[in-house]
Amino acid sequence: MSSNVRLLFLVNVKFVDLEPLTREVRHDLQTAFEGVLKEGEFILGDQLSAFEEEFARYCEVDHCVGVSNGLDAITMILEALGIGPGDDVLVPAHTFVATWFAVSAVGANPIPVDVDLITYNISPEKLEAALTEYTKAIIVVHLYGQPVEFDAIESFARHHGIYIIEDAAQAHGARYNNRRVGSLGDAAAFSFYPTKNLGALGDGGAITIRDPEMYGRLRRLRNYGSDTKYVHPILGKNARLDEIQAAWLRVKLRRLDDWNAERRRLIEHYREALSNSLVVLPSVIDNCEPVWHLFVIQTDRRRELIDSLSNAGVSTVIHYPVPPYRQEAYAKCSFDIHATRNTELLVNRVLSLPLWIGMTSDQISYIAEQVEYSLS
Ligand SMILES: *Cc1c(COP(=O)(O)O)cnc(C)c1O
Repeated sequence: MSSNVRLLFLVNVKFVDLEPLTREVRHDLQTAFEGVLKEGEFILGDQLSAFEEEFARYCEVDHCVGVSNGLDAITMILEALGIGPGDDVLVPAHTFVATWFAVSAVGANPIPVDVDLITYNISPEKLEAALTEYTKAIIVVHLYGQPVEFDAIESFARHHGIYIIEDAAQAHGARYNNRRVGSLGDAAAFSFYPTKNLGALGDGGAITIRDPEMYGRLRRLRNYGSDTKYVHPILGKNARLDEIQAAWLRVKLRRLDDWNAERRRLIEHYREALSNSLVVLPSVIDNCEPVWHLFVIQTDRRRELIDSLSNAGVSTVIHYPVPPYRQEAYAKCSFDIHATRNTELLVNRVLSLPLWIGMTSDQISYIAEQVEYSLS
């Protein structure tokens, strides 16, 4: 194709555009807003209780605690499990930095475990080598919306008597062996950052949990260590989920399964359109139902592809270009970087293509054409 021909087809495709999704529920969001105004209750009210009940039911667990954001959710789970200074926590080497920061926030040490090149998730077979006598827990991340290989992780954790925490910030609604993510481990953390599969209109998060005693602790931890006003049996944070966000999340939760199904259709379209291209497409492991928070491909000609897509009006993002252990925040810590070979490969190869509710088949065909043109 000559460059003139390409210009004729130039379209802009944003990396994420929340406008079509918001338009679908705009009226219901406005009604929910009016409802909260009329009720006049803005913190720890009926909307939050109702959302917690509905989200627990959705995740097929007994309890949910609405909190301020995903980072606080992971941090409070660690606190509630009594994990702190001197303890080691196994974390994936390839993840958003929040997974690590939560461990550091309670004074424990994050221990990197390499990820699998096919699933992008923590490698069950690499856990044993990372284990120390101080290891208290493992945080698994269902990265990009794909559930981890939970059976293998569970037998490892049970054998060594350590807790399993799910970082489900990218996987609302995904299933492993027909069980919902969020119901697999000892506790799970969710983020409702606006671009997540279930997003608030601002910050928000949740913890799902089975154990009733832990549930009580987490409710106190998020609210100044208190169940009853001005009675504080333990130290706590102010890390609550607002009534208005809970009301909006209730509206959006009703649409979540449909939106995840739409993500699946978009991915199928991508797969067909890219089937002859030179990029590596994401794989799905057996018995898993991913929810495609992101559509992440691999190529060893990434710089070229980014520039070429950008010239064609298509925005892309790298999730994530620098692993947590190489961030300046951890400059004073030493980690075993030899044990993170796959992570080091992936950070130079992964690229996320646009994916959002309301994207058209034409947009996906256009992107696939540009990918092929760029790498041919
Ligand atoms: C978004 C995200 C978080 C943090 O959520 P916030 O609500 O932004 O604090 C944690 N872990 C992963 C994997 C995430 O993608």
